[in-house]
Amino acid sequence: MYNEKSNYAVWHRLVDISAISLFFAGILFLLWDMPGAPQRLPVWGMLTLLLSAYLAADFVSGLVHFLADSFGRVETPIFGRLFIYPFREHHADPLAITRHSFLETNGANSLISLPVLGAVLALTDAQADLFFRLWVCFFLLAIFLTNQIHQWSHQAHPVAPIRLLQRCGLILTPKGHAIHHTAPHDTYFCITSGWLNPVLTSLRFFPALKATIVFSCGICAKISGKAGRDSQTPSNTMLP
Ligand SMILES: [Zn+2]
Ligand SMILES: [Zn+2]
Repeated sequence: MYNEKSNYAVWHRLVDISAISLFFAGILFLLWDMPGAPQRLPVWGMLTLLLSAYLAADFVSGLVHFLADSFGRVETPIFGRLFIYPFREHHADPLAITRHSFLETNGANSLISLPVLGAVLALTDAQADLFFRLWVCFFLLAIFLTNQIHQWSHQAHPVAPIRLLQRCGLILTPKGHAIHHTAPHDTYFCITSGWLNPVLTSLRFFPALKATIVFSCGICAKISGKAGRDSQTPSNTMLP
């Protein structure tokens, strides 16, 4: 197991600093490149972009959280430490996240956003794809905020403006998120607004997705002839 106090290594801190710096440099560059966008869009259009991006971020937060909780190994070099370990640690010690610094809380989400940011900057046009670029900006900013919002949901006494946002239901609420922290931790994965949690739960979305992935991996293992030698499927690689 990992020792929390000694586990935020210097290399990890450097990765987080670089990722957050590059993330905001990319967002600023994207915004700098689209002057006049707000004037070209009516208020309802801007609200639609904002809302859809916020909902998309909530969905992606749930999907990534589900995958990290359910599959993969903490021991996988770099990837396991950066992306799997925080989720596994979180179930064992839900309050550990409240002791994480700004860098440790927000570095990983910045890092996974960089390829998206790079692709949008490289492959889209500032004028022709103006509103798509704006949507991506909103989406990535919501992704960036996700783990911070998650941390706030675990704090005993978040600052007043955050408590107000939680009470209004605009960000993940401690009460809603507590459902995920009830064993066996297999529901309510969305951690941005949490708005999609009841919807995805009623659709049985994550159980169906897990069954599909496990079934597909079983088929692949059989096809590659590994089933007999190594029957380990992602579903039993759950814990470190
Ligand atoms: Zn979890
Ligand atoms: Zn949590």
